[in-house]
Amino acid sequence: MPLFPEIELPAPRRSRRAEAPAPSDALRDKALEIHRRLCGVYDCPIPYFHSLDPLSELISSLLSHRTRNADSGRAFKALRARWPDWAAVEEAPVEEVEETIRGVTWPELKAPRIKAVLAAVRERVGALDLAFLEEMSVDEARGWLEGIPGIGPKTSAAVLSFSTLRMPALPVDSHHHRVAQRTGLIGPKVDVGPSHGMLRAQLPADWSAQKLYDNHEVLMLHGQRVCFHRSPACDRCVLLDICPTGQSRRGA
Ligand code: SF4
Repeated sequence: MPLFPEIELPAPRRSRRAEAPAPSDALRDKALEIHRRLCGVYDCPIPYFHSLDPLSELISSLLSHRTRNADSGRAFKALRARWPDWAAVEEAPVEEVEETIRGVTWPELKAPRIKAVLAAVRERVGALDLAFLEEMSVDEARGWLEGIPGIGPKTSAAVLSFSTLRMPALPVDSHHHRVAQRTGLIGPKVDVGPSHGMLRAQLPADWSAQKLYDNHEVLMLHGQRVCFHRSPACDRCVLLDICPTGQSRRGA
């Protein structure tokens, strides 16, 4: 008996994401060593910070782009308080949605984007419900989500990983990306988008959703608490001996 019999499973769309090249054994070993050390510091397994259904997680993720967590969280709560469900947000005047989320960065862009994404989900699924993604592989589900204009790799991975779907996907935010670049897991010119496939390929294919979530969380936490954007605290970093950036800063 399918879990959601009223919804016919939409056909997977072809992902636009490029296949990441296979990493070397040395890079895989380094990724595992970084995970092991940071998990020791930040105490894995890390508890999930959300238990939202996947559509709510998608809206939350769209709000959070380039916005502090506290501000996007407030905007999400304001949407939920003002309208009873996402169908009502879909129908609401865009000016009212913009006014409700004004605490986030670029509310004038995010309000029409949220309404357009809700309309696209309804058009493709026939309902405002993304629970069917559970029936797909991670690659299929990410490809399906990224087929909607305005949804990129970070958002698709966040929906699968952070929502109640709890699927094994690896999101990469700006802190995670910075630590990965400085430690040499990815090159200095690799952007956040392509880094998703490269960093995922360095980790074991059979890792659980929790382990991939831990990997994202510990690299993100390390970027927030030690490997700061302007002045990384290399002298108290557990990765110093295997980090080329830390080594060159120490030499300098
Ligand atoms: S050694 Fe420095 S640059 Fe490297 S990860 Fe640690 S804090 Fe960041």
